[in-house]
Amino acid sequence: RSSMQKSEYTCDHRPRVYKVFENVAQKYDIMNDAMSLGIHRVWKDALLHVMHPQPGAQLLDVAGGTGDIAFRFLEYIRLQEERQKRRAARSSQTPSWQDISNNYSTEDESRESRAVVCDINKEMLKVGKQKADSLGVSAGLSWVVGDAEELPFDDDQFDIYTIAFGIRNVTHIDQALQEALRVLKPGGRFMCLEFSKVNNPILSSIYDAYSFQMIPVIGEVIAGDWKSYQYLVESIRKFPNQEEFKGMIEDAGFYCVKYYNLTGGVVALHSGFKL
Ligand code: SAM
Repeated sequence: RSSMQKSEYTCDHRPRVYKVFENVAQKYDIMNDAMSLGIHRVWKDALLHVMHPQPGAQLLDVAGGTGDIAFRFLEYIRLQEERQKRRAARSSQTPSWQDISNNYSTEDESRESRAVVCDINKEMLKVGKQKADSLGVSAGLSWVVGDAEELPFDDDQFDIYTIAFGIRNVTHIDQALQEALRVLKPGGRFMCLEFSKVNNPILSSIYDAYSFQMIPVIGEVIAGDWKSYQYLVESIRKFPNQEEFKGMIEDAGFYCVKYYNLTGGVVALHSGFKL
């Protein structure tokens, strides 16, 4: 990596990041919709679509904030279970050999699916927990205060590790990637959604104008906090581009690393496996 890129990530910005998310926690969800014009929902749905989790899967969502990824994960699994039950009911009427072999449940499928939301900021988790309670979706969910750079979990615990719009806030990205590798089971998958580099020059200039000029204004109007949102925009600009970040994930020891550009590269979804 270039020395410029490294130096940008070596000063510890944890206290500042903590303050930013403490300030925005109560308004975080509404601000997400306002700033992204609702498109963050599509990006998060795309993550679940690519992940395609199966019943029994164990998810760790780091920098999980107010729980958007974990909620989607549990809902996706619930729909998968319903689909499997309907298929089983249909096949019990006229079972084929394939149906019979599909009826053998693996150890993973007989286990309860679980989503752990881990975030350094207890205010963000508090808002997420309240949301889960009011939506009645608390089963299978847990909320843990923890730092992506030093996760409070044993080795080889999770099938999937996600981090959505969180890794750019982490001071030592390489350390967070090492921790992701450690807590994943062999065969487990790392998935990251993050703002990235727009390659189309026209889209890029519209996006730059929107983010630099509009986002702090929306932050001031809705959350009364210009500075926090200015910081968020600046942190997007400093984050490595798609190829550089892919290299960092490979350097950490993940295999089959690839990425998908969403909305022309405004956001990239990176994925890699622990062997
Ligand atoms: N993943 C959620 C989403 O997509 O809506 C929240 C994303 S929010 C932009 C970034 C989150 O990262 C905040 O909740 C913040 O507290 C958390 N965060 C920042 N640094 C962290 C760290 N070192 N470890 C864990 N979480 C961190």
